[in-house]
Amino acid sequence: FEIADFPTFLGDLRQMYDATWNENEGITTNYTQYLNEYHADDAWGVSFCSVDGQRCGFGSKTKMFTMQALMNPFLYAMSLDELGHEKIHSIVGQETSGGQYNVIKLDDQGRPHNPMGNAGAILLASLYKDDLNKSDRHESFLDKMRQISGIQSVDESSVSFDYAAFMSEREVCHRNSSISYYLREKGCIDNKKNVEHVLDVYTQMCNVTVNTDSLSVLAATLANGGICPITGTQQLSNDSVKSTLSCMLAAGMNDHSGIWAFQVGLPAKSGVTGGTMIIIPNFGGFALYSPKIDKSANSVRAAKFAHLLNEKFHLHEYDPV
Ligand code: GLU
Repeated sequence: FEIADFPTFLGDLRQMYDATWNENEGITTNYTQYLNEYHADDAWGVSFCSVDGQRCGFGSKTKMFTMQALMNPFLYAMSLDELGHEKIHSIVGQETSGGQYNVIKLDDQGRPHNPMGNAGAILLASLYKDDLNKSDRHESFLDKMRQISGIQSVDESSVSFDYAAFMSEREVCHRNSSISYYLREKGCIDNKKNVEHVLDVYTQMCNVTVNTDSLSVLAATLANGGICPITGTQQLSNDSVKSTLSCMLAAGMNDHSGIWAFQVGLPAKSGVTGGTMIIIPNFGGFALYSPKIDKSANSVRAAKFAHLLNEKFHLHEYDPV
């Protein structure tokens, strides 16, 4: 697949980028002092990568930010590849929780509702390469994220880790700590596991850093059925990516996922630091970054951009109906 008139496509995206600049609503994530200071500037970055590797970007496209929940779809896909659909969905559900992303609640089978919210992601982090020690688990996850982003062909530093952000989040992650102990109490995390250790593995994953340029390649790998469009290597299995996209459409935009499915109709995922991925299956992946978020913890500018994108290109899954 190739976008025949790339310069025109680029011009359209530029217009949408400019049109969203004035969107100033929302507040930045400030649950750690570090993030508060980090987000003081008004960054706005947009990048796109097609399944064929055609790329473009605008504004703060090289500004690094921590992924937070943007890592959840990748952790889920990796977990499916590693442990299989049956095992993973015996412990985590496929429905929305009806609550916020960090709600302390399980479904009626005693599982976190889905792998997109904190509870599901913490549980999957508890299983991720759990035969390795903590630092090797971190290295392995970071390395895999770099492979999915085709890092060897991009910029070495564009998928990295923010140690200061990790340490500051670690000090104040009381909600995630509560979720983890609740998972332990309910038997989701087994007794042999050290809960603090699990929490560290999860928080390290959240503090992997990207910029919109590298994130757009990560997103495009999902759009491309798990094959990285830059390197042409199969990084995630087709089946796992299919499940991941379904899950992103159902629950990727937190407690706004239902409205998002109606209005935008594309699999997407947000993170509290203001990053967003929008996947257009078999076409490409968008990565957006703007730290001001709404009450559902979704970037305000990203939502506006998604609407403009749909107005112009009619990408909603059911538009052709
Ligand atoms: N580490 C973040 C938190 O627990 C992840 C949530 C998100 O990005 O939505 O608040």
